[in-house]
Amino acid sequence: MFGERFRRRFALGDSGVKNVKKGTFWTVIVNLVVMGGIGILYYLMLQFIGTLTQGKALLGAAVFAVAVVVFLLLSFITHLQQYANTYSVVYTEVANMRIGLAEKLRKLPLAFFGKRDLADLTETIMGDVNRMEHVWSHVIGYLYGSYISTAIIAVWLFITDWRLALACLWGVPVAFGLLYGSRSINKRNSETTRKAALIVSDGIQETLENMREIRATNQEQQYLDELYAKIDAHERITRHGELVTGLFVNAAGVIMRLGVATTILVGANLILSGKIDFMLLFMFLLVIARVYAPFDQALALIAEVFFSEVSAGRLQEIYDIPVATGDDEFHPQGHDIEFKDVVFSYGGESVLKGVSFIAKEGQVTALVGPSGSGKSTCARLAARLWDHDSGSITVGGVDISTVDPEVLHAEYSMVFQDVTLFDDTVMTNIRLGRRNATDDEVFAAAKAAGCDEFVGKLPQGYDTPIGENGAKLSGGERQRISIARALLKDAPIVLLDEATASLDVENETKVQTALSRLLAGRTVMVIAHRMRTIEAADKIVVLAEGKVAEQGTPDELMQKENGIFARMHALQSVSADWSL
Ligand code: ADP
Repeated sequence: MFGERFRRRFALGDSGVKNVKKGTFWTVIVNLVVMGGIGILYYLMLQFIGTLTQGKALLGAAVFAVAVVVFLLLSFITHLQQYANTYSVVYTEVANMRIGLAEKLRKLPLAFFGKRDLADLTETIMGDVNRMEHVWSHVIGYLYGSYISTAIIAVWLFITDWRLALACLWGVPVAFGLLYGSRSINKRNSETTRKAALIVSDGIQETLENMREIRATNQEQQYLDELYAKIDAHERITRHGELVTGLFVNAAGVIMRLGVATTILVGANLILSGKIDFMLLFMFLLVIARVYAPFDQALALIAEVFFSEVSAGRLQEIYDIPVATGDDEFHPQGHDIEFKDVVFSYGGESVLKGVSFIAKEGQVTALVGPSGSGKSTCARLAARLWDHDSGSITVGGVDISTVDPEVLHAEYSMVFQDVTLFDDTVMTNIRLGRRNATDDEVFAAAKAAGCDEFVGKLPQGYDTPIGENGAKLSGGERQRISIARALLKDAPIVLLDEATASLDVENETKVQTALSRLLAGRTVMVIAHRMRTIEAADKIVVLAEGKVAEQGTPDELMQKENGIFARMHALQSVSADWSL
């Protein structure tokens, strides 16, 4: 129960909790061993004073020498253990955490990414994990270890003399009370600082992305002024946050150390009234020099524990999101895709309001309709990129919501308008279609997709790096790479979002030829924008306002009197009106 709360509070994995426990244990041991050193010092002083005042013989120097050597050895070994169990293990834990997060993000439903700002997400993966790393390695073990060792020492001090113990230790709970009391202020500051930092990184990103437009419209100065204002605000907020935290932390430190003064005061009074002898006070003064030390580091960093709760909360939030799961087995009877009464919303108003149609294997089914009518949404749902709200979507008779998305996606090739290319070679980008494809298979797919001739002109052919998101290629070339990818994958279902951006005639013909190879014999669902594609489709599904307005072969729809499609076709303005 406590373990679980602790785990969630610091967003730790199971191994993390175990390691924090080990780190805490060794911190306790280190603190006690250091106290042991003070014990040696105390008895040495006792001996000296005994010799000076009563002429007693000094206990063999050899005994002390052995004690000191043993102390040094113990101290060395325990510090080493503490180091190994706090710093070193944390790096493994952090690596595990990053891998775990990446795994989780890979499986999260796309709806999650729609809702989250990407800069915010990046900050969580990099910033929050870094913050947690520091807290795990530098704070938690030390802090909890110091609580325990101080409690043990306190018990011993109270048994020895409760009055002096009280005078010595009263500041500790008061100092921590003050810090924990300021927790909500610190947390709030941490949130505001983070938001200000996000505004700055968003601002920088926006300026970089829009550099061309900013220059073209001569707005450099205005943009820079806005950016400077954001940076200034961030600095001001951060400084304010640090100041408030520093104030509390230092006040706590001072309060704790007031214990030295009260111990001397109380001790002097007790000696004067003959209740204790000087050596006892002396021992307390020796102890006092050490008893606050373990807290020094933890105290300075305790604000981080409070801040880290915000980070841990955000990490935990990602861990807690349910992922789309399902069977690892997928054995459809053929690959017909059937939508039955499908209802779906992105969170607000319904986008699909009971959509039913079948996209048959071996046929091209064109989704047409005005922009915003739900064509792309249908394609996303068909691949389970999102889960529909009600109704059913089946592939070969199997309800896709029962199949693990990863298993399902093996059956799909998706060619979308905004082709994503990686800053790598042409070869690697095509091979993404099927990682274990041989070079010859990649070449064959590239050839079939019409990539051969433009790749031939690149300086290093297929080994040419293509720049960030294929910046060095034209729109048509990028699309052909993505078609080559899909050809290589050779999946039975193809989802295609036809390009709206006008390609030049030569490029368009090449893309069309490549596509016709890709589409042959598969279940094809195409979000169609061009009349040529629509007329060549086996079936047309006209969507309007989230419903199927009409469906049938192009001929059937054309002959329908007053049908939407017939009207649109007659107007010949399809490409202008119906594009995305
Ligand atoms: P089409 O492809 O026919 O242009 P979409 O399927 O893209 O239409 O969009 C249908 C409706 O859903 C639109 O009103 C659009 O604003 C909305 N929509 C699309 N994607 C999202 C999203 N990620 N989050 C919220 N609403 C969305």
